[in-house]
Amino acid sequence: MKLPVFEYACPASVSEAVALLAAHGGAAKPLAGGQSFVPMLAFRVAAPSLIVDLRKLDELRRIAITPQGVSLGAMTRWRDILDDARLRTAHPLLVTAIEHVAHYQIRNRGTVGGSMAHADPAAEMPAIAVTCEAEIAVTGKAGGRTIAAADFFRGPLMTALGPDEIITAVNLPLWPAGRRFGFAEFARRKGDFAIAGVALFYDPDGGGTAANAHAGAFGVADRPLRLAAVEEALNGRAVDEAAIAAAVTAATSAVDPPDDIHASAAYRRVLTGAMVERALRGVR
Ligand SMILES: Cc1cc2nc3c(=O)[nH]c(=O)nc-3n(C[C@H](O)[C@H](O)[C@H](O)COP(=O)(O)OP(=O)(O)OC[C@H]3O[C@@H](n4cnc5c(N)ncnc54)[C@H](O)[C@@H]3O)c2cc1C
Repeated sequence: MKLPVFEYACPASVSEAVALLAAHGGAAKPLAGGQSFVPMLAFRVAAPSLIVDLRKLDELRRIAITPQGVSLGAMTRWRDILDDARLRTAHPLLVTAIEHVAHYQIRNRGTVGGSMAHADPAAEMPAIAVTCEAEIAVTGKAGGRTIAAADFFRGPLMTALGPDEIITAVNLPLWPAGRRFGFAEFARRKGDFAIAGVALFYDPDGGGTAANAHAGAFGVADRPLRLAAVEEALNGRAVDEAAIAAAVTAATSAVDPPDDIHASAAYRRVLTGAMVERALRGVR
């Protein structure tokens, strides 16, 4: 299908991009890799009068590893994450999750900022951001601000971003040495969006028990979820058969998934528990 008619701008700085968005109100939209936006234009889900192409903003295509954690510039592509050997120790859960994103061609163009702004409830990056308590750095005409990942997603394709704001970075807190993590997702075919997925981690407390457990689920609600009940089932316990069973029960009770063409609500609920079990049995 042909795209709707639009004006096109390709600014050279974040401030120029923000000024263009602000000047057009909600009628202008940023373009990252186009992996979701171009199909949305083709299907008339979006019909902006101006497209602001972010591809020249090299300042947004960077990965910084600091004592505070990992900062992913918004124009960082999936393949940048997978190609960066430092991240395999600086944030192994992130790398493991991104290995599940789509296919080679899409990983070559799709970006961190585009995925966050698109807010697909089944996408991996938003789930990692919520599970790890990331902060989303955004810039608009009023200046910069940060939004906690827990407050960022408002529903399918809906976020806390204002019409003149662009995401500049996703900041993941420091990943300490010794942290254990698990990740599991189920999709019909490798590279498809997950029908259900789970990301989790905990810090062994030295006495053989788990502390600081974080668990998140995606594909099972209108946005990525934290699974507080799973965290409660793990904290202060050895992650043994009894703890795994308790975490699975907690997960299946905690979610209230939708029915859709891919799976019934009942199937997704059971699948969420199965993903918790797989993630815990695969903990590294
Ligand atoms: C066939 C297919 C399979 C896929 N499978 C998966 C999968 O398994 N898992 C997964 O997570 N993803 C998957 N994706 C999505 C893909 O990985 C991209 O992350 C996603 O499409 C966003 O693409 P993009 O970065 O090119 O952003 P675009 O498509 O350019 O933009 C997407 C949206 O974000 C907005 N936007 C872009 N950048 C910014 C910014 N910096 N600030 C504010 N707003 C911004 C745009 O205006 C638009 O609304 C798949 C996509 C396709 C086409």
